[in-house]
Amino acid sequence: MHFGTISHWRRQLCTGALSPAELVQELADTIKQHNPALNAYISWDTEAALAEAAQADLSKPLGGIPLAIKDNICLQNQPTRCASRILENFISPYDATAISRLRAMGAIPFGRTNMDEFAMGSTGENSAFGATANPVNPAHVPGGSSSGSAAAVAGGLAIAALGSDTGGSIRQPASHCGIVGVKPTYGRVSRYGLVAYASSLDQIGPLTQNVEDAALILNAICGHDAKDSTSTRKDVPDFMAGLGQSIKGCRIGLPREYSSEGNAPAVKAALQRSIRALTDLGAEITEISLPHTEAVVSAYYIIACAEASSNLSRFDGIRYGYRAQGTNGLDDLYSKTRETGFGPEVKRRIILGTYVLSSGYYDAYYARAQKVRSLVARDFSEAFKQVDLIIGPTAPTPAPLLHDKTMTPLQVYLADIYTVPANLAGLPGISLPCPQESGLPVGIQLLAPPFAEVNMLRVASALEQQFSAR
Ligand code: GLN
Repeated sequence: MHFGTISHWRRQLCTGALSPAELVQELADTIKQHNPALNAYISWDTEAALAEAAQADLSKPLGGIPLAIKDNICLQNQPTRCASRILENFISPYDATAISRLRAMGAIPFGRTNMDEFAMGSTGENSAFGATANPVNPAHVPGGSSSGSAAAVAGGLAIAALGSDTGGSIRQPASHCGIVGVKPTYGRVSRYGLVAYASSLDQIGPLTQNVEDAALILNAICGHDAKDSTSTRKDVPDFMAGLGQSIKGCRIGLPREYSSEGNAPAVKAALQRSIRALTDLGAEITEISLPHTEAVVSAYYIIACAEASSNLSRFDGIRYGYRAQGTNGLDDLYSKTRETGFGPEVKRRIILGTYVLSSGYYDAYYARAQKVRSLVARDFSEAFKQVDLIIGPTAPTPAPLLHDKTMTPLQVYLADIYTVPANLAGLPGISLPCPQESGLPVGIQLLAPPFAEVNMLRVASALEQQFSAR
């Protein structure tokens, strides 16, 4: 179902087998034909992409490559709606830094991918533009919140895509759709122009068909940006440097807490297979402990909702997009706009976040969650004294069914247990598809110490090769 990788299309373009405009046109035709079944894109502008393709500089590393962009990353002169009614009609006046960097490397941002509204969700169902289907089995969700980015790449409607990950939104849909998803270290990629959900957790990253494409995109988007005070001044390595290298002697930790009884049989089997493959490659597997795992979901949802309640206060009907009509005075305009502009999950989180920050409850919830966050980060720094990387499942189950009314919001939140720790601790993480005999895709996750992406990608590519050699 795949559309071809970045390196495949780069070869085609550089040998003159087709032109950048022909590639954009071919992709546009494919999207037009197959998007109605998946709902992976909510808008795309073929004319604008063709105009850029005409100027494409093939000497650049991503020259002529169209890339799909999640709807919460600003694209100049294009709608940036975060799949929310409250941003309907909003056209971004500028590019996010990640986008200007992609353009500088020759890429052509093309198409806005569907998502859970304001990146709040794990299934893609919380979109004002309707749910996205999982291309592997359309009765199931693609995961979320970068639902459209994952479905587009896995369904052959994009070469690769950008997503954002606040608590797993790149890695979990990658796992559910059978592709690669990378959340870089907090601070690696500028958040300038990424519509904020929870600013201390948010990070932009790639969703791709293989590890090499992810490294290529990271090479373009990482690096310090004066427009984001949390972006790091650390040198940007060549993320391709470790690909294809031996992983002999690499120390990999398997957290006791990640082999839970709650993991689905297919997930347990995928983890076992990955451990066997790593052992065959000469890595050393050690059992480790991350003792605060039990508390990560609670801490995450308190912190994420608290930050969201503040970040989303800017959507007031005055400054952006949608405004409720027929209102009576300013307070009424604010409340009717927010009542009808936001979907139910976003409102639930604004209310939760406002509650945990309120003066009577701040210490009991928000301040405590921050303490848990420090303990989680300490668990990891202790673990990384013994091991170079940590392996575990990306999600406890394969993709749930679409419109599964039996899942409560709390059950959906609990399934984020393996992805939120990386955001709380600021670590990089990757989800890599583990081959399945049958059924839905299952991803396995590697976590690394801050800024150790090169080693993480080295092990991921070795594992990818081992899996494809089977
Ligand atoms: N599922 C998590 C949430 O709903 C993660 C979302 C994300 O990473 N943006 O908050």
